[in-house]
Amino acid sequence: MANVQEIINLIVGRVNKKDEELIKKAYNFAERAHEGQKRLSGESYFTHVFETAKIIAKLGMDAQTIATGLLHDVLEDAKVTEEEIKKEFGEDIVFLVNGVTKLGTLKYHGHERHVESLRKFFVAIANDLRVVIVKFADRLHNLRTLQFIREDKRHRIAIESIEVYAPLANRLGMGKLKGEIEDAAFPYAYPEEFAQIEEIIKEKKDLYEKNIFEVKKELEKELGKNKIKVIEINYRVKHKYSLWKKLVKYEMDIEKIHDIVALRVVVESIEECYKVLGLVHSIWNPLPGRIKDYIAVPKPNGYRSIHTTIFTGSGGIAEIQIRTKEMHAEAAYGIAAHFAYKEHGSKKVNYNESKFKWIEELKDLHYNPEDPKSFIEHLKMDFFNNRIFIFTPQGDVVDLPEDSSPIDFAYSIHSDIGDHIFGAKVNAKIAPILSKLKNGDIVEIITKKDSHPSSKWLEYSKTNIAKKNIRSYLEKNSLLSKLKSFGRS
Ligand code: MN
Repeated sequence: MANVQEIINLIVGRVNKKDEELIKKAYNFAERAHEGQKRLSGESYFTHVFETAKIIAKLGMDAQTIATGLLHDVLEDAKVTEEEIKKEFGEDIVFLVNGVTKLGTLKYHGHERHVESLRKFFVAIANDLRVVIVKFADRLHNLRTLQFIREDKRHRIAIESIEVYAPLANRLGMGKLKGEIEDAAFPYAYPEEFAQIEEIIKEKKDLYEKNIFEVKKELEKELGKNKIKVIEINYRVKHKYSLWKKLVKYEMDIEKIHDIVALRVVVESIEECYKVLGLVHSIWNPLPGRIKDYIAVPKPNGYRSIHTTIFTGSGGIAEIQIRTKEMHAEAAYGIAAHFAYKEHGSKKVNYNESKFKWIEELKDLHYNPEDPKSFIEHLKMDFFNNRIFIFTPQGDVVDLPEDSSPIDFAYSIHSDIGDHIFGAKVNAKIAPILSKLKNGDIVEIITKKDSHPSSKWLEYSKTNIAKKNIRSYLEKNSLLSKLKSFGRS
């Protein structure tokens, strides 16, 4: 049976009396709103929002976000109005609940080409990263109860979770959540591959675990001798879906994968991280080329840690990951860690080289730990203001710069469609191909075989891909006409 105290216990010490009151109020409100409603599993509907709120609390989020978790389905699935929520809980919570409700309308149809746009769109309409985090938690609980859903729907939700939700969680640095979403979706998305992985893990896990346990014992002894204070030393088993992806990369050769089980050493400072690395290499020989210093050079999503792989003797191999406790929290919770943990000292991570710059910009937004409120303000994502999101009639989404025309849209679908645009329907009405599109327009392109780019099109296109294709067509054509006139003379 659900009990609000379960949530409070997860955040004790982090919240004040007022926060506690808010959560209790949201709990009671949601319980009443969903009274009598059942999930397909036969459980009460309230169980779903309660579990969602618990996931959010475990991520270390603030009281408002937890309350939003409890209330996230009252607009859509219970007979509650926006005004009622506003009256009871205020503007902020209405904004958050509305955001989660809006995200519910988004669907992935399996068109690989548009998946990156869909991820961006997801973040953009959320407007506040806390909305995204509530949606992640909602999805994770739905995935965990997916066996009760119709089979075709089940498959679509599982694939969508792997293609849209998990990569977003990853880019926000939320490694733990990413792994949990993927593993919950994996058996429904790819049942045969899942069974295969289960078999492999069953076969190998005990051996690896025994191996790593020996390493742990010896390392603990050495760390003690050298007076290095260990905050945590433990091992983790690799998530199943990421193991499968890695296996595919290595042609299903399990012997090439060394981190199925990895030892994690968490210490106080960066200096100690390097000391531990030195110590590890003085006991065991490292595998050449397998030392990765993600502290000096973080991964594009901000992940920091030192990884090394060692020969453990008796033919065994083990991966060791060394990090500080801040890095440990960040690796698990990513952007959510910023809501819960205050970091001291300044760190400057260079994200510029990443191809997913937009999400790094989002992470890098003037975060000042002394002023979490203005951080949240900045998360309203002003930088999406110069992008618009355009839909195909099938519901796929394409993101384009502001003031783009149907020409840009057509070229972003396919160069052949761009080269033969004849007309466009914007929101089911005929519109000039030289018109400006607006955020949220549904655009259908009409093509004709003998319709071709003209130099005028260049003025009305914003994207490089459209300009490039138009120029290349014009150049080819002027060359052709020159050749023709040359032939005539
Ligand atoms: Mn829900």
